[in-house]
Amino acid sequence: MTSYADFHQRSITERDAFWAEQARLIDWQTPPQQICDYSNPPFARWFVGGTTNLCHNAVDRHLAERADQAALVAISTETNTERSYSFAELHAEVQRMAASLQALGVKKGDRVLIYMPMIAEAAFAMLACVRIGALHSVVFGGFAAGSLATRIEDAEPVAVVSADAGSRGGKVVPYKPLLDEAIALSKHKPQAVLMVNRGLAPMPLQAGRDHDWSALRTLHLDTQVPCEWLESTEPSYTLYTSGTTGKPKGVQRDTGGYTVALAASMKHIFDGKAGQTFFATSDIGWVVGHSYIIYGPLIAGMTTIMYEGLPTRPDAGIWWSIVEKYQVTHMFSAPTAVRVLKKQDPAYLAKYNVSSLKALWLAGEPLDEPTAQWISGSLNVPIIDNYWQTETGWPILTLANGVEQQATRFGSPGKAVYGYNVKLIDEATGEELTAPNQKGVVAIEGPLPPGCMQTVWRDDDRFVNTYWKSIPGRLVYSTFDWGIRDADGYYFILGRTDDVINVAGHRLGTREIEECISAHPNVAEVAVVGVADNLKGQVALAFAVPRDASSLNSDADRAALEAEVMKQVDAQLGAVARPSRVYFVALLPKTRSGKLLRRALQAVAEKRDPGDLTTMEDPAVLQQVRDMVGQ
Ligand code: AMP
Repeated sequence: MTSYADFHQRSITERDAFWAEQARLIDWQTPPQQICDYSNPPFARWFVGGTTNLCHNAVDRHLAERADQAALVAISTETNTERSYSFAELHAEVQRMAASLQALGVKKGDRVLIYMPMIAEAAFAMLACVRIGALHSVVFGGFAAGSLATRIEDAEPVAVVSADAGSRGGKVVPYKPLLDEAIALSKHKPQAVLMVNRGLAPMPLQAGRDHDWSALRTLHLDTQVPCEWLESTEPSYTLYTSGTTGKPKGVQRDTGGYTVALAASMKHIFDGKAGQTFFATSDIGWVVGHSYIIYGPLIAGMTTIMYEGLPTRPDAGIWWSIVEKYQVTHMFSAPTAVRVLKKQDPAYLAKYNVSSLKALWLAGEPLDEPTAQWISGSLNVPIIDNYWQTETGWPILTLANGVEQQATRFGSPGKAVYGYNVKLIDEATGEELTAPNQKGVVAIEGPLPPGCMQTVWRDDDRFVNTYWKSIPGRLVYSTFDWGIRDADGYYFILGRTDDVINVAGHRLGTREIEECISAHPNVAEVAVVGVADNLKGQVALAFAVPRDASSLNSDADRAALEAEVMKQVDAQLGAVARPSRVYFVALLPKTRSGKLLRRALQAVAEKRDPGDLTTMEDPAVLQQVRDMVGQ
């Protein structure tokens, strides 16, 4: 067996030979002519000249050997339904959806925005798009009209696929009014909207624009829609993620590189085999949902489980009952979800036979030792942390146990994954830190491996300037995370270098929340910071300066304004972005040059020493913050 160290080394020093081998894991209509074109850094073009199709690799190619095997099982504890689709059935449904989209005018290269709950039709829609060469842009169903409108405007979709409603904890959330409002707000108007009716909420259809999926589906029950063979470097989708400005970035992914990267990860990282069952508890609105609910497991010929509902409803045993019933072999979740379960009665875990599980992978936020220990002891399987980003599409750091079994080190997501030339860089000098246990910015030397973002949608400059120019004197990709590496190559992630925060594994840009709050007529200025939270990792706190301080005479006045501000965030961005508290202060801490000192605010809110305050204009400002947060 190859050692992991050699495997990784080869992926960097013999890059093209290594990836040419991985490329054989997928089907190509025309094989690639060149493995990696890095003649125009930092833009990497993978598998140039090759033509392929993501949907073909996820669905069609399995028909010969596993047409009757379950491909997709959609379980909802919100509607108490379980729907299972074999590869043959999935193939048929995807073609019906593809034919419907084509009937609505969607062509190769067009964008289709998908705003859907976790139902099977969402998977059909994603696969249908890539089948016909249209780019999907999935927007998380928990986002509200304002966030949705920004994304519609940027993606300029020809069509939107949505549903009457989502449901969370038994509470129906109607989507159609949010979608109508978002389209009204957006300068771009999609020409068609395809609506899936779950029978949960009214969904009045706008004549000429809106269409009912069940009606179109009936028209296309037997329509054959062949896969569109795409040049490897043609885009497959965009997915928006938050950054340090208020405007979300459309992460653009290619076709061939992404398909190869996922196929290789299923083998080397997950050790997943056709016929096994993968259960990722994320949402299709996030990158984990794209890579490991939909594409990765299907490319590997595995059954994938899609789950709509809470991990604690009807009780905290629900996930383990799914593991038992479907003989789940691979499970993928987030530390927050495990922390939620840890607070429940451990008897729920003991109730089910989870011996089919081979391992549990956790990602999205730091995995703390007590959480890892608890779940590892309870499930009796390896718990494998993995660190990555929406931008990369698959893990940057983990233990690739499909190559070599390596020991887990608590607190570390593991080692640099093959294909990633990971470096720790001194932020000030741009120099590489080679000695162990030094803190630096986690960076990746170009080219980024296959599957990573190609660029920011329609904004090459933003891609270069945001990710590749932040470290002085070097063209290197910055993850914007701090990290250290021990003498054995295990990395430890120490938090973000920028103003991005991570709430329950979801990335939120504090600027986006600040922009939303400062639009309130009684807010003059606001700072949003992330502070440590036992359950969610971090929560957002807002410190706002009221425009009219005389309007806030009592606790009741402050509570009323706080509720209004929260309502505004809910309505524009969605409840995911809602700060847990909004404090009203007379002044915000600033430097003499007027720069907001978010770090000092964060330190005080976390009851830590704010450090050196010599640059602060008026250190007394922090006293009011201390009083508010009860220090
Ligand atoms: P997102 O693109 O929303 O998945 O967020 C990516 C960010 O989440 C990273 O830049 C990290 O800050 C954080 N993150 C993801 N996975 C991990 C992990 N395993 N350990 C620590 N932080 C993580």
